[in-house]
Amino acid sequence: MKDIRGVNEAQVRMILAVIILLVLVALYIIIRNRRQTGGSKREGSSNVVSMERHRKRKQSSGEQQCSACKKRNGKLVFYAEDNGTVIGLCKDCQSKAKKRDMLPL
Ligand SMILES: [Zn+2]
Repeated sequence: MKDIRGVNEAQVRMILAVIILLVLVALYIIIRNRRQTGGSKREGSSNVVSMERHRKRKQSSGEQQCSACKKRNGKLVFYAEDNGTVIGLCKDCQSKAKKRDMLPL
């Protein structure tokens, strides 16, 4: 009986040790996965945001069409027309606007 008890205690200790090991390994994997997914998500979202910002900057600055000649001719200067509409004019068309006494915004 003593031998059997001893074996049982040893088995229980072994099982407990294995369970603790498994729990530790599981915790380690969970924490590692959380860090990896969280990090990659942050990196991914930041990349997406930076790309969107980059596109918006490109679209808003220097890439807009001139309202008069419809050319992408560098930076536009915006003028208010008599009827209230705002038009963006390139360098070539700014002289026309000045002749029409339009004031830059
Ligand atoms: Zn123009």
